[in-house]
Amino acid sequence: MPSVAFYTLGCKVNFYDTEAIWQLFKNQGYEQVDFEQTADVYLINTCTVTNTGDKKSRQIIRRAVRRNPDAVIAVTGCYAQTSPAEIMAIPGVDLVIGTQDREKLMSFVTDIQNDRKPVNAVRNIMKTREFEELDVPDFAERTRAFLKIQEGCNNFCTFCIIPWSRGLSRSRKPESVLNQARQLVASGYKEIVLTGIHTGGYGDDLENYRLANLLSDLDKIDGLERIRISSIEASQIDDEMIAILNSSPKMCRHLHIPLQAGNDEILKRMRRKYTTAEFAEKITRLHEAMPGVAITTDVIVGFPGETEEQFESGYRFMEQLKFAEMHVFPYSKRTGTPAARMEDQMDEEVKHERVHKLIELSERMQAAYGREWVGRVLDVIPEREAKGSEGMGLVSGYTDNYLQVVLNGDESLIGKLCRVRITDSGVNECRGELLEVARGEALPVALQA
Ligand code: SF4
Repeated sequence: MPSVAFYTLGCKVNFYDTEAIWQLFKNQGYEQVDFEQTADVYLINTCTVTNTGDKKSRQIIRRAVRRNPDAVIAVTGCYAQTSPAEIMAIPGVDLVIGTQDREKLMSFVTDIQNDRKPVNAVRNIMKTREFEELDVPDFAERTRAFLKIQEGCNNFCTFCIIPWSRGLSRSRKPESVLNQARQLVASGYKEIVLTGIHTGGYGDDLENYRLANLLSDLDKIDGLERIRISSIEASQIDDEMIAILNSSPKMCRHLHIPLQAGNDEILKRMRRKYTTAEFAEKITRLHEAMPGVAITTDVIVGFPGETEEQFESGYRFMEQLKFAEMHVFPYSKRTGTPAARMEDQMDEEVKHERVHKLIELSERMQAAYGREWVGRVLDVIPEREAKGSEGMGLVSGYTDNYLQVVLNGDESLIGKLCRVRITDSGVNECRGELLEVARGEALPVALQA
């Protein structure tokens, strides 16, 4: 049986695409082996969101070539889409296919196995208007299923290379999303994470059908317990969206809303579609509509020209918003983006210092958010044995409001909806006491009184 090994860098969309590409190999009778093993084909799904992404992608490609020089080395993903010639120049690379045409991948691999002629199959993504349907009936992971609903982005924020690697916004047909959701529920998944490059942009290219409509249709699927949105822009949270988020217990009380900067001058130069006042107003309304909602965010530090005053005013602004967690990134210059051509590129040391300050703030916010839930009862879906305490009868999983909770229990709890009382909280995880397993499922023997 021929074998294939995968290595994926980057975001949830990339991980979804890799799962979909695995289906193509599986249908052709391939077995999947670990990337550290010898394989007939290596598929590297690359990322280009930062310079580090490019560098790491090249390292992994070279590692695959060394592992088996006779294998077919195939490279896909965002770095492949933006820099195919650079990748084709790496000795041993056989196939570069960008962020589209993956359904043609198997025929390229077969041709290369026959004639060993390297292929650069990258096409201009900016002309693409159709969403590439790549189905994933099940995932390696057992509890949360990623469901890709959208591709590309129309925003062109000045620091971001993604629209050039993923193209303009394209939505998956609603019935195709709903069919896959039903399939995933039938395979035992209780939680679905809606993912895309610009998830909130779902429906930009559809007639009178937006993300709020899709959420309402997904809500009707029996057996689906949780619907989580991977990320949504503040500019896409309107009354209709808030109403649907508030209408069903299935909607996770967790929203990841990228802020990127807490200063209006910087937001303007980033070409973000809101001011700090507008962003704060949306967050306030969400807290009113969904008490206890966890709002997490992304922040870029050290954008070209960011003064100490602008950083400090941003810091105070974020402090007021009481996020549940902030993902903090140092600005990374991306060739081809407007921000890369801006003057006043920041010194790496200054960036590092500011990143450190915001991470500290985020940890205080995480601890404060966790403390709010001590003593309260929440549902947790255990995903795995708790890291670092394998075999000690501890499992960990997430609540709908994205608290990671460790509780007593064994593998038999994985994937089940468990009612838990939060007994203690920390920065990255809480402790919980199992009260019951939902829907009449029996408690594991070890936990029966
Ligand atoms: S919204 Fe902005 S940051 Fe996000 S993918 Fe689009 S261009 Fe990039």
